[in-house]
Amino acid sequence: MFENLSDRLSKTVKKLRGQARLTDENIKDALRDVRMALLEADVALPVVRDFINRIRERAVGQEVLDSLTPGQALIKVVHEELIEIMGQANASLNLNTQPPAVILMAGLQGAGKTTTVGKLTRFLKEKSKKTVMVASCDIYRPAAIKQLETIANQTEAVFFPSEPNQQPTEIALAALAQAKRQYMDVLIIDTAGRLHIDAEMMGEISQLHKLLNPVETLFVVDSMTGQDAANTAKAFGDALPLTGVVLTKTDGDARGGAALSVRHITGKPIKFIGVGEKLDALEPFHPDRMASRILGMGDVLSLIEQAQTKVDHEKAQKLARKLNKGKGFDFEDLRDQMNQMLKMGGMSSLLDKLPGMGAMPAHLKDQANDKEIRRMIAIINSMTLEERRNPEVIKSSRKRRIAAGCGLQVQDVNRLLKQQQQMSKVMKQFSKGGMRKLMQSMKGKLPTGGGFPPMGGGFPG
Ligand code: GDP
Ligand code: MG
Repeated sequence: MFENLSDRLSKTVKKLRGQARLTDENIKDALRDVRMALLEADVALPVVRDFINRIRERAVGQEVLDSLTPGQALIKVVHEELIEIMGQANASLNLNTQPPAVILMAGLQGAGKTTTVGKLTRFLKEKSKKTVMVASCDIYRPAAIKQLETIANQTEAVFFPSEPNQQPTEIALAALAQAKRQYMDVLIIDTAGRLHIDAEMMGEISQLHKLLNPVETLFVVDSMTGQDAANTAKAFGDALPLTGVVLTKTDGDARGGAALSVRHITGKPIKFIGVGEKLDALEPFHPDRMASRILGMGDVLSLIEQAQTKVDHEKAQKLARKLNKGKGFDFEDLRDQMNQMLKMGGMSSLLDKLPGMGAMPAHLKDQANDKEIRRMIAIINSMTLEERRNPEVIKSSRKRRIAAGCGLQVQDVNRLLKQQQQMSKVMKQFSKGGMRKLMQSMKGKLPTGGGFPPMGGGFPG
Protein backbone atom coordinates (compact mmCIF):
# COMPACT_ATOMS: atom_id res chain seq x y z
CA MET A 1 0.00 0.00 0.00
CA PHE A 2 1.15 3.54 -0.73
CA GLU A 3 4.27 2.20 -2.45
CA ASN A 4 4.93 5.20 -4.65
CA LEU A 5 4.60 7.78 -1.92
CA SER A 6 6.62 5.66 0.42
CA ASP A 7 9.36 5.24 -2.17
CA ARG A 8 9.64 8.95 -2.77
CA LEU A 9 9.53 10.01 0.84
CA SER A 10 11.90 7.37 2.07
CA LYS A 11 14.43 8.48 -0.53
CA THR A 12 14.17 12.04 0.72
CA VAL A 13 14.50 10.82 4.27
CA LYS A 14 17.56 8.79 3.39
CA LYS A 15 19.24 11.84 1.90
CA LEU A 16 18.58 13.79 5.08
CA ARG A 17 19.64 11.07 7.43
CA GLY A 18 23.30 11.51 6.67
CA GLN A 19 23.28 15.29 6.97
CA ALA A 20 24.94 16.54 10.08
CA ARG A 21 24.09 20.10 9.18
CA LEU A 22 20.92 21.56 7.85
CA THR A 23 21.23 24.62 5.69
CA ASP A 24 18.55 26.76 4.09
CA GLU A 25 19.57 25.06 0.90
CA ASN A 26 19.10 21.43 1.87
CA ILE A 27 15.93 22.18 3.83
CA LYS A 28 14.55 23.79 0.72
CA ASP A 29 15.52 20.79 -1.39
CA ALA A 30 14.00 18.37 1.08
CA LEU A 31 10.76 20.35 1.29
CA ARG A 32 10.54 20.45 -2.46
CA ASP A 33 11.01 16.68 -2.62
CA VAL A 34 8.32 16.12 0.01
CA ARG A 35 5.95 18.48 -1.80
CA MET A 36 6.46 16.73 -5.12
CA ALA A 37 5.99 13.34 -3.53
CA LEU A 38 2.69 14.43 -1.97
CA LEU A 39 1.39 15.98 -5.16
CA GLU A 40 2.27 12.88 -7.13
CA ALA A 41 0.47 10.79 -4.54
CA ASP A 42 -2.61 12.89 -5.35
CA VAL A 43 -2.85 14.49 -1.94
CA ALA A 44 -5.22 17.47 -2.01
CA LEU A 45 -3.49 20.79 -2.55
CA PRO A 46 -4.64 22.54 0.66
CA VAL A 47 -3.34 19.57 2.62
CA VAL A 48 0.02 19.69 0.88
CA ARG A 49 0.29 23.42 1.47
CA ASP A 50 -0.50 23.20 5.18
CA PHE A 51 1.77 20.25 5.64
CA ILE A 52 4.75 21.91 3.98
CA ASN A 53 4.18 25.14 5.90
CA ARG A 54 4.15 23.36 9.23
CA ILE A 55 7.29 21.43 8.42
CA ARG A 56 9.05 24.56 7.24
CA GLU A 57 8.17 26.42 10.43
CA ARG A 58 9.42 23.64 12.62
CA ALA A 59 12.46 22.94 10.45
CA VAL A 60 13.93 26.38 10.99
CA GLY A 61 12.94 26.32 14.65
CA GLN A 62 15.00 25.39 17.65
CA GLU A 63 13.96 21.79 17.90
CA VAL A 64 15.59 20.92 14.61
CA LEU A 65 18.50 23.27 14.27
CA ASP A 66 19.77 22.86 17.80
CA SER A 67 19.58 19.13 17.75
CA LEU A 68 22.70 17.03 17.45
CA THR A 69 21.47 15.38 14.30
CA PRO A 70 19.34 17.93 12.48
CA GLY A 71 18.68 15.59 9.57
CA GLN A 72 17.09 13.09 11.88
CA ALA A 73 15.27 15.76 13.82
CA LEU A 74 13.70 16.89 10.58
CA ILE A 75 12.65 13.35 9.75
CA LYS A 76 11.00 13.18 13.15
CA VAL A 77 9.12 16.36 12.37
CA VAL A 78 7.92 14.97 9.03
CA HIS A 79 6.86 11.81 10.79
CA GLU A 80 4.92 13.69 13.47
CA GLU A 81 3.21 15.92 10.95
CA LEU A 82 2.20 12.92 8.86
CA ILE A 83 0.56 11.47 11.95
CA GLU A 84 -1.05 14.80 12.68
CA ILE A 85 -2.72 15.15 9.28
CA MET A 86 -3.99 11.60 9.43
CA GLY A 87 -5.56 12.16 12.83
CA GLN A 88 -3.25 11.20 15.71
CA ALA A 89 -4.68 8.04 17.23
CA ASN A 90 -6.89 5.31 15.87
CA ALA A 91 -10.53 6.28 16.14
CA SER A 92 -12.57 3.19 16.85
CA LEU A 93 -16.26 2.57 16.54
CA ASN A 94 -18.28 4.04 19.33
CA LEU A 95 -21.17 1.73 20.03
CA ASN A 96 -21.94 2.91 23.53
CA THR A 97 -25.64 3.33 23.36
CA GLN A 98 -28.85 1.57 24.19
CA PRO A 99 -28.78 -1.48 21.87
CA PRO A 100 -29.27 -1.95 19.04
CA ALA A 101 -26.43 0.38 18.09
CA VAL A 102 -27.25 1.48 14.57
CA ILE A 103 -24.52 1.89 11.95
CA LEU A 104 -25.56 3.69 8.77
CA MET A 105 -23.47 3.19 5.65
CA ALA A 106 -23.19 5.99 3.10
CA GLY A 107 -21.23 6.42 -0.09
CA LEU A 108 -21.21 6.35 -3.87
CA GLN A 109 -22.04 3.29 -5.92
CA GLY A 110 -19.21 0.78 -6.07
CA ALA A 111 -17.34 2.33 -3.17
CA GLY A 112 -17.58 -0.91 -1.21
CA LYS A 113 -20.47 -0.27 1.19
CA THR A 114 -22.07 -3.69 0.97
CA THR A 115 -18.73 -5.49 1.22
CA THR A 116 -17.82 -3.32 4.19
CA VAL A 117 -21.06 -4.27 5.96
CA GLY A 118 -19.84 -7.87 5.79
CA LYS A 119 -16.35 -6.92 6.97
CA LEU A 120 -17.69 -4.90 9.89
CA THR A 121 -19.97 -7.75 10.89
CA ARG A 122 -17.04 -10.10 10.99
CA PHE A 123 -14.95 -7.55 12.89
CA LEU A 124 -17.64 -6.93 15.49
CA LYS A 125 -18.39 -10.60 15.94
CA GLU A 126 -14.76 -11.59 16.31
CA LYS A 127 -13.41 -8.65 18.28
CA SER A 128 -16.35 -7.80 20.51
CA LYS A 129 -18.64 -10.82 20.28
CA LYS A 130 -21.55 -8.68 19.17
CA THR A 131 -24.73 -9.97 17.61
CA VAL A 132 -25.31 -8.19 14.33
CA MET A 133 -28.34 -7.72 12.10
CA VAL A 134 -27.99 -6.29 8.59
CA ALA A 135 -30.60 -4.80 6.26
CA SER A 136 -30.43 -3.35 2.76
CA CYS A 137 -32.21 -0.17 1.73
CA ASP A 138 -30.79 -0.43 -1.79
CA ILE A 139 -34.05 -0.88 -3.68
CA TYR A 140 -32.68 0.40 -6.96
CA ARG A 141 -30.67 -2.61 -7.93
CA PRO A 142 -32.55 -5.87 -7.19
CA ALA A 143 -29.26 -7.75 -7.00
CA ALA A 144 -28.07 -5.47 -4.19
CA ILE A 145 -30.37 -6.99 -1.57
CA LYS A 146 -29.40 -10.47 -2.65
CA GLN A 147 -25.72 -9.50 -2.46
CA LEU A 148 -26.15 -8.43 1.15
CA GLU A 149 -28.01 -11.63 1.95
CA THR A 150 -25.14 -13.71 0.60
CA ILE A 151 -22.62 -11.70 2.60
CA ALA A 152 -24.80 -11.96 5.72
CA ASN A 153 -24.82 -15.72 5.39
CA GLN A 154 -21.04 -15.82 5.10
CA THR A 155 -20.58 -13.78 8.25
CA GLU A 156 -23.44 -15.25 10.25
CA ALA A 157 -25.17 -11.93 10.55
CA VAL A 158 -28.93 -12.00 10.96
CA PHE A 159 -30.30 -10.90 7.60
CA PHE A 160 -33.38 -8.71 7.63
CA PRO A 161 -35.15 -9.32 4.29
CA SER A 162 -36.36 -6.43 2.18
CA GLU A 163 -37.95 -6.04 -1.28
CA PRO A 164 -37.28 -3.63 -4.16
CA ASN A 165 -40.89 -2.42 -4.02
CA GLN A 166 -40.53 -1.10 -0.46
CA GLN A 167 -39.46 2.39 0.50
CA PRO A 168 -35.98 2.73 2.08
CA THR A 169 -37.47 4.41 5.15
CA GLU A 170 -40.03 1.65 5.55
CA ILE A 171 -37.27 -0.99 5.42
CA ALA A 172 -35.12 0.90 7.90
CA LEU A 173 -37.89 1.28 10.47
CA ALA A 174 -38.98 -2.34 10.16
CA ALA A 175 -35.39 -3.52 10.55
CA LEU A 176 -34.91 -1.36 13.63
CA ALA A 177 -38.07 -2.72 15.22
CA GLN A 178 -37.02 -6.28 14.46
CA ALA A 179 -33.49 -5.73 15.80
CA LYS A 180 -35.03 -4.47 19.05
CA ARG A 181 -37.34 -7.45 19.30
CA GLN A 182 -34.41 -9.83 18.80
CA TYR A 183 -32.17 -7.95 21.27
CA MET A 184 -29.47 -7.40 18.65
CA ASP A 185 -26.36 -5.53 19.78
CA VAL A 186 -25.80 -3.91 16.41
CA LEU A 187 -27.90 -3.11 13.34
CA ILE A 188 -26.04 -2.17 10.15
CA ILE A 189 -28.06 -0.44 7.45
CA ASP A 190 -26.74 -0.70 3.90
CA THR A 191 -27.90 2.00 1.51
CA ALA A 192 -27.98 2.72 -2.21
CA GLY A 193 -25.29 4.78 -3.82
CA ARG A 194 -25.34 6.77 -7.03
CA LEU A 195 -22.57 7.29 -9.51
CA HIS A 196 -22.34 10.94 -8.53
CA ILE A 197 -23.55 13.04 -5.69
CA ASP A 198 -27.11 14.10 -6.41
CA ALA A 199 -29.78 15.86 -4.40
CA GLU A 200 -32.16 12.92 -4.43
CA MET A 201 -29.63 10.54 -2.95
CA MET A 202 -28.59 13.05 -0.31
CA GLY A 203 -32.25 13.60 0.56
CA GLU A 204 -32.81 9.90 0.96
CA ILE A 205 -29.82 9.23 3.16
CA SER A 206 -30.54 12.30 5.31
CA GLN A 207 -34.05 11.03 5.86
CA LEU A 208 -32.73 7.61 6.86
CA HIS A 209 -30.34 9.31 9.24
CA LYS A 210 -33.12 11.27 10.93
CA LEU A 211 -35.29 8.19 11.34
CA LEU A 212 -32.60 5.87 12.62
CA ASN A 213 -30.51 8.24 14.70
CA PRO A 214 -27.43 6.04 14.18
CA VAL A 215 -24.48 6.13 16.60
CA GLU A 216 -22.15 5.64 13.66
CA THR A 217 -22.62 7.09 10.20
CA LEU A 218 -19.76 5.80 8.12
CA PHE A 219 -18.79 7.20 4.79
CA VAL A 220 -17.34 4.50 2.57
CA VAL A 221 -14.99 5.68 -0.15
CA ASP A 222 -12.68 4.16 -2.71
CA SER A 223 -9.08 5.18 -1.97
CA MET A 224 -8.14 4.86 -5.62
CA THR A 225 -10.05 8.07 -6.31
CA GLY A 226 -7.26 9.95 -4.56
CA GLN A 227 -8.03 13.48 -3.46
CA ASP A 228 -11.53 13.16 -4.93
CA ALA A 229 -12.22 10.73 -2.11
CA ALA A 230 -11.69 13.57 0.34
CA ASN A 231 -13.86 15.94 -1.67
CA THR A 232 -16.76 13.50 -1.93
CA ALA A 233 -16.43 12.83 1.77
CA LYS A 234 -16.66 16.56 2.37
CA ALA A 235 -19.84 16.85 0.29
CA PHE A 236 -21.43 14.00 2.23
CA GLY A 237 -20.17 15.41 5.48
CA ASP A 238 -21.85 18.74 4.76
CA ALA A 239 -25.19 16.97 4.31
CA LEU A 240 -24.86 14.31 7.00
CA PRO A 241 -23.24 14.22 10.43
CA LEU A 242 -20.65 11.58 9.54
CA THR A 243 -18.81 9.95 12.41
CA GLY A 244 -16.05 8.43 10.34
CA VAL A 245 -14.71 7.23 7.04
CA VAL A 246 -13.90 3.77 5.74
CA LEU A 247 -11.26 3.92 3.04
CA THR A 248 -11.62 0.89 0.76
CA LYS A 249 -9.42 -0.75 -1.85
CA THR A 250 -6.20 0.47 -0.32
CA ASP A 251 -4.71 -2.80 -1.53
CA GLY A 252 -4.82 -1.43 -5.06
CA ASP A 253 -3.81 2.11 -4.20
CA ALA A 254 -0.15 2.80 -4.69
CA ARG A 255 -0.50 6.54 -4.15
CA GLY A 256 -2.14 7.14 -0.80
CA GLY A 257 -3.51 10.62 -1.49
CA ALA A 258 -6.89 9.77 -0.01
CA ALA A 259 -5.47 8.54 3.28
CA LEU A 260 -3.56 11.77 3.71
CA SER A 261 -6.35 14.11 2.60
CA VAL A 262 -9.54 12.79 4.14
CA ARG A 263 -9.01 13.86 7.73
CA HIS A 264 -7.76 17.31 6.91
CA ILE A 265 -10.45 18.09 4.34
CA THR A 266 -13.42 16.64 6.24
CA GLY A 267 -12.37 16.78 9.87
CA LYS A 268 -13.58 13.18 10.13
CA PRO A 269 -11.30 10.32 11.12
CA ILE A 270 -10.59 7.35 8.92
CA LYS A 271 -11.72 4.52 11.15
CA PHE A 272 -10.97 1.54 8.94
CA ILE A 273 -9.24 0.67 5.73
CA GLY A 274 -10.31 -2.07 3.34
CA VAL A 275 -7.33 -4.10 2.22
CA GLY A 276 -8.88 -6.67 -0.12
CA GLU A 277 -12.07 -8.17 -1.42
CA LYS A 278 -12.39 -10.88 1.20
CA LEU A 279 -14.50 -10.29 4.26
CA ASP A 280 -11.58 -10.42 6.66
CA ALA A 281 -9.72 -7.72 4.72
CA LEU A 282 -10.49 -4.83 7.06
CA GLU A 283 -8.01 -3.11 9.36
CA PRO A 284 -8.44 -0.37 11.97
CA PHE A 285 -6.61 2.69 10.69
CA HIS A 286 -3.61 3.73 12.80
CA PRO A 287 -2.16 7.08 11.69
CA ASP A 288 1.12 6.51 13.52
CA ARG A 289 1.76 3.15 11.97
CA MET A 290 0.74 4.44 8.59
CA ALA A 291 3.13 7.39 8.88
CA SER A 292 5.98 5.04 9.73
CA ARG A 293 5.14 2.81 6.83
CA ILE A 294 4.97 5.75 4.48
CA LEU A 295 8.42 6.90 5.56
CA GLY A 296 9.75 3.41 5.09
CA MET A 297 10.65 3.27 8.76
CA GLY A 298 8.30 0.44 9.49
CA ASP A 299 7.21 0.12 13.06
CA VAL A 300 10.78 0.65 14.12
CA LEU A 301 9.91 1.45 17.67
CA SER A 302 7.86 -1.63 18.32
CA LEU A 303 10.49 -3.64 16.52
CA ILE A 304 13.08 -2.32 18.90
CA GLU A 305 10.88 -3.27 21.82
CA GLN A 306 10.61 -6.78 20.49
CA ALA A 307 14.28 -6.92 19.72
CA GLN A 308 15.15 -5.88 23.25
CA THR A 309 13.08 -8.55 24.84
CA LYS A 310 13.75 -11.46 22.59
CA VAL A 311 17.01 -11.05 20.79
CA ASP A 312 20.32 -12.47 21.78
CA HIS A 313 22.36 -9.30 22.12
CA GLU A 314 25.67 -11.04 22.37
CA LYS A 315 25.22 -12.71 19.03
CA ALA A 316 24.04 -9.47 17.53
CA GLN A 317 27.15 -7.67 18.66
CA LYS A 318 29.38 -10.44 17.43
CA LEU A 319 27.81 -10.27 14.03
CA ALA A 320 28.06 -6.51 13.95
CA ARG A 321 31.76 -6.64 14.84
CA LYS A 322 32.35 -9.20 12.17
CA LEU A 323 30.60 -7.17 9.51
CA ASN A 324 32.42 -4.05 10.62
CA LYS A 325 35.68 -5.84 9.98
CA GLY A 326 34.54 -6.31 6.41
CA LYS A 327 33.87 -10.02 6.75
CA GLY A 328 30.99 -11.46 4.74
CA PHE A 329 27.65 -12.61 5.99
CA ASP A 330 27.78 -16.41 5.82
CA PHE A 331 25.28 -19.21 6.26
CA GLU A 332 26.03 -19.58 9.96
CA ASP A 333 24.99 -15.96 10.40
CA LEU A 334 21.96 -16.41 8.21
CA ARG A 335 20.80 -19.40 10.21
CA ASP A 336 21.23 -17.45 13.45
CA GLN A 337 19.18 -14.63 11.99
CA MET A 338 16.39 -16.90 10.93
CA ASN A 339 16.25 -18.65 14.27
CA GLN A 340 16.06 -15.26 15.96
CA MET A 341 13.27 -14.30 13.69
CA LEU A 342 11.22 -17.38 14.47
CA LYS A 343 11.76 -16.60 18.14
CA MET A 344 10.43 -13.09 17.62
CA GLY A 345 7.06 -14.26 16.39
CA GLY A 346 7.83 -15.16 12.82
CA MET A 347 7.99 -13.36 9.57
CA SER A 348 4.46 -12.13 9.19
CA SER A 349 4.53 -10.16 12.41
CA LEU A 350 7.86 -8.62 11.52
CA LEU A 351 7.78 -7.88 7.84
CA ASP A 352 5.62 -4.82 7.98
CA LYS A 353 7.63 -3.38 10.81
CA LEU A 354 10.98 -3.57 9.14
CA PRO A 355 12.41 -0.38 7.74
CA GLY A 356 12.54 -0.27 3.99
CA MET A 357 10.08 -3.08 3.54
CA GLY A 358 8.04 -0.85 1.28
CA ALA A 359 10.84 -1.20 -1.22
CA MET A 360 10.80 -4.97 -1.08
CA PRO A 361 9.25 -6.51 -4.20
CA ALA A 362 5.89 -8.16 -3.56
CA HIS A 363 7.02 -11.58 -4.75
CA LEU A 364 9.79 -11.57 -2.17
CA LYS A 365 7.36 -10.57 0.55
CA ASP A 366 5.13 -13.49 -0.39
CA GLN A 367 8.04 -15.89 -0.25
CA ALA A 368 9.13 -14.77 3.12
CA ASN A 369 6.83 -16.77 5.30
CA ASP A 370 7.70 -18.98 8.21
CA LYS A 371 7.50 -22.13 6.15
CA GLU A 372 10.07 -20.71 3.81
CA ILE A 373 12.31 -19.86 6.75
CA ARG A 374 12.14 -23.38 8.08
CA ARG A 375 12.99 -24.70 4.64
CA MET A 376 15.97 -22.41 4.44
CA ILE A 377 17.15 -23.58 7.83
CA ALA A 378 16.78 -27.18 6.66
CA ILE A 379 18.99 -26.48 3.66
CA ILE A 380 21.65 -24.81 5.79
CA ASN A 381 21.55 -27.72 8.23
CA SER A 382 22.44 -30.07 5.44
CA MET A 383 25.61 -28.12 4.60
CA THR A 384 29.01 -28.88 6.06
CA LEU A 385 30.59 -26.33 8.38
CA GLU A 386 33.02 -25.39 5.65
CA GLU A 387 30.19 -24.71 3.24
CA ARG A 388 28.38 -22.58 5.78
CA ARG A 389 31.47 -20.51 6.45
CA ASN A 390 32.48 -20.22 2.79
CA PRO A 391 29.38 -20.24 0.63
CA GLU A 392 31.46 -19.73 -2.49
CA VAL A 393 32.71 -23.34 -2.41
CA ILE A 394 29.20 -24.60 -3.07
CA LYS A 395 29.28 -25.78 -6.69
CA SER A 396 27.00 -28.18 -8.53
CA SER A 397 27.96 -31.51 -6.95
CA ARG A 398 27.73 -30.01 -3.46
CA LYS A 399 24.40 -28.46 -4.36
CA ARG A 400 23.04 -31.87 -5.37
CA ARG A 401 24.26 -33.41 -2.11
CA ILE A 402 22.79 -30.60 -0.01
CA ALA A 403 19.46 -30.79 -1.82
CA ALA A 404 19.28 -34.56 -1.36
CA GLY A 405 20.23 -34.18 2.29
CA CYS A 406 17.25 -32.00 3.10
CA GLY A 407 14.83 -33.54 0.63
CA LEU A 408 14.57 -30.43 -1.56
CA GLN A 409 15.52 -29.47 -5.10
CA VAL A 410 18.76 -28.02 -6.41
CA GLN A 411 16.83 -24.92 -7.42
CA ASP A 412 15.86 -24.40 -3.78
CA VAL A 413 19.53 -24.46 -2.86
CA ASN A 414 20.26 -22.02 -5.69
CA ARG A 415 17.60 -19.66 -4.44
CA LEU A 416 19.02 -19.71 -0.96
CA LEU A 417 22.52 -19.02 -2.29
CA LYS A 418 21.21 -16.06 -4.18
CA GLN A 419 19.42 -14.73 -1.10
CA GLN A 420 22.56 -15.13 0.95
CA GLN A 421 24.50 -13.08 -1.62
CA GLN A 422 21.89 -10.33 -1.59
CA MET A 423 21.84 -10.23 2.17
CA SER A 424 25.56 -10.17 2.39
CA LYS A 425 25.49 -7.09 0.19
CA VAL A 426 22.78 -5.39 2.23
CA MET A 427 24.52 -6.24 5.49
CA LYS A 428 27.74 -4.68 4.27
CA GLN A 429 25.92 -1.47 3.53
CA PHE A 430 24.28 -1.42 6.93
CA SER A 431 27.52 -2.18 8.67
CA LYS A 432 28.91 1.00 7.17
CA GLY A 433 26.61 2.75 9.55
CA GLY A 434 23.22 3.32 7.97
CA MET A 435 21.17 1.02 10.09
CA ARG A 436 23.11 1.49 13.28
CA LYS A 437 22.78 5.22 13.12
CA LEU A 438 19.09 4.99 12.50
CA MET A 439 18.61 2.63 15.40
CA GLN A 440 20.62 4.79 17.74
CA SER A 441 18.60 7.79 16.75
CA MET A 442 15.43 5.93 17.53
CA LYS A 443 16.24 6.04 21.24
CA GLY A 444 19.75 4.91 21.75
CA LYS A 445 18.58 2.06 23.89
CA LEU A 446 20.36 -0.59 21.94
CA PRO A 447 23.81 -1.78 22.85
CA THR A 448 26.46 0.51 21.49
CA GLY A 449 29.49 -0.56 19.57
CA GLY A 450 27.82 -1.80 16.48
CA GLY A 451 24.83 -3.37 18.09
CA PHE A 452 22.01 -3.20 15.68
CA PRO A 453 19.19 -5.66 16.10
CA PRO A 454 20.12 -8.69 14.10
CA MET A 455 16.87 -8.49 12.24
CA GLY A 456 17.45 -5.02 11.02
CA GLY A 457 17.04 -4.96 7.29
CA GLY A 458 18.39 -8.42 7.06
CA PHE A 459 16.28 -9.18 4.06
CA PRO A 460 16.88 -8.49 0.44
CA GLY A 461 15.12 -5.31 -0.31
P1 GDP B 1 -21.23 -0.72 -2.99
O1 GDP B 1 -21.85 -0.39 -4.31
O2 GDP B 1 -20.74 0.54 -2.33
O3 GDP B 1 -22.10 -1.51 -2.09
O4 GDP B 1 -19.91 -1.56 -3.30
P2 GDP B 1 -19.68 -3.13 -3.14
O5 GDP B 1 -19.56 -3.50 -1.71
O6 GDP B 1 -20.67 -3.87 -3.96
O7 GDP B 1 -18.20 -3.26 -3.75
C1 GDP B 1 -17.89 -2.91 -5.10
C2 GDP B 1 -16.67 -3.72 -5.52
O8 GDP B 1 -15.52 -3.32 -4.79
C3 GDP B 1 -16.83 -5.21 -5.27
O9 GDP B 1 -16.30 -5.90 -6.39
C4 GDP B 1 -15.97 -5.46 -4.05
O10 GDP B 1 -15.44 -6.77 -4.03
C5 GDP B 1 -14.89 -4.44 -4.23
N1 GDP B 1 -14.25 -4.04 -2.95
C6 GDP B 1 -14.81 -3.52 -1.84
N2 GDP B 1 -13.90 -3.24 -0.89
C7 GDP B 1 -12.69 -3.61 -1.40
C8 GDP B 1 -11.33 -3.56 -0.91
O11 GDP B 1 -11.03 -3.12 0.21
N3 GDP B 1 -10.37 -4.03 -1.75
C9 GDP B 1 -10.66 -4.52 -3.01
N4 GDP B 1 -9.65 -4.93 -3.77
N5 GDP B 1 -11.92 -4.56 -3.49
C10 GDP B 1 -12.92 -4.12 -2.72
MG1 MG C 1 -24.08 -2.03 -2.32
